[in-house]
Amino acid sequence: MLDSGVLRVHRLLRRGPAPVRFFRVGSGGSHVESVRGTLAGRGVGIYIHMPYCRSTCLFCPYFRGVLRDRGELETYLEALLREVELYGRALEDLDLDVVELHVGGGTPSLVPPRFYRELRGKLSEFFNLRSGVGIEVNPEDFRNPQLVEEFYACGVDEVSIGVQSFDARVLRSIGRKHGPEDGARAVENSLRAGFRWVNVDLMFLTPSIRGYAELSLDEKLRAFRRDLGKAVELGAHQVTYYATVVPKGSPGYRLVEMGRVNQEVDSVDRFVEEALDFAEDRGLHLTRVYSASRGSYEYATVNLEMVGPLLGFGAGAWSNTGYYQYVNVHDVGSYVELVREGRYPAIYSRGLSRSSRAWRLLFDQLSATAVRYDTFNSLGLGIPLGGRVLLNLMVLAGLARRTSYGYRLTRRGIVEVYKSVMNYVVELPVKATEVLRRYGNPANLPEEVLIE
Ligand code: SF4
Repeated sequence: MLDSGVLRVHRLLRRGPAPVRFFRVGSGGSHVESVRGTLAGRGVGIYIHMPYCRSTCLFCPYFRGVLRDRGELETYLEALLREVELYGRALEDLDLDVVELHVGGGTPSLVPPRFYRELRGKLSEFFNLRSGVGIEVNPEDFRNPQLVEEFYACGVDEVSIGVQSFDARVLRSIGRKHGPEDGARAVENSLRAGFRWVNVDLMFLTPSIRGYAELSLDEKLRAFRRDLGKAVELGAHQVTYYATVVPKGSPGYRLVEMGRVNQEVDSVDRFVEEALDFAEDRGLHLTRVYSASRGSYEYATVNLEMVGPLLGFGAGAWSNTGYYQYVNVHDVGSYVELVREGRYPAIYSRGLSRSSRAWRLLFDQLSATAVRYDTFNSLGLGIPLGGRVLLNLMVLAGLARRTSYGYRLTRRGIVEVYKSVMNYVVELPVKATEVLRRYGNPANLPEEVLIE
């Protein structure tokens, strides 16, 4: 009986994202009226997308490309400031507070630091800027301490460093150009420069190729534990750990199909358990099922993407006002052209109902290991009926327990939710990027698209 309950919850949690239908964004006026009319609060998050990397990684599902020349980057940065201005003018009278500002990609550390000062300046013309800038960093860019200090001087105060591993074998298996010492130096340089929060991104269970494949599962687990330990010993405030699952549709998936890359997805539980033991031993706080930190604060590039309001800027950026989700054109050339013409680069959108916002909040809370009634109340939402059924099933299956404030995941619950989040994160960006990339030319957009 209990086992069949567990299986049902597993199936529910691992169902993956449901198909979503998006509609072509109407004229500039109606789009911006939808944004204004659906903002679910005066405190908004801002996300900026930098779609450039030095080289691209085989298993990366995101919207990005190789940076070929600095001129192209400068043109893009100029367009970004124009887009901020476009929305800024349209929303200025709403007196919005920017409560968080994160830059993801791509590789935001490829950008000259002075851009972040300009970005802050431009945002301050239209919004009450209450936040510093958080950026994702490639360790290669943070080897030079002077450059790191320059980023800090330009208003960047949080970083998430893509160390991935301090083990050369793991780095080689994902084709990273940096070495273990670069990751360590990037963390040290960031702490010395004074960043108020330093997150280290780690990968585990990387595809079994070149050097990593020969290791036994226990050796891989030990390497992961050493990585977690090294990040904390270096002084990082937070460690985030992801299983490197090769998503269908990423350039590297061909290797899986050809049998040249082996994915040991069934061992994910062991790694998550290892991270849980580590967090417990070191007295770290579990801010997400995939992240442990020294306090309750959490670096998250798109923290507000699930419930909003989050305004995204840049080619390929997603936004969610709370009740209206829209996505920008997935093509840098078209993005620059649209913004230069003074047009909004949003191409597809959809309304979000109260019920879908409540479901999004529920999954967001599950990934944060606890569901709190007061968070639902503060947003004027209730836990959906189906969500209450799910939570009760999770209690019966030993994956969650009731508390005075709501529900808290058990150890087994954390592992199950980790796998559910992994499914979601791996599948959705790949599907969305694959579909939306086809519509680089906004003149030829179909009226609606289905992402399934
Ligand atoms: S994993 Fe990071 S560095 Fe590699 S292609 Fe993706 S965004 Fe660029």
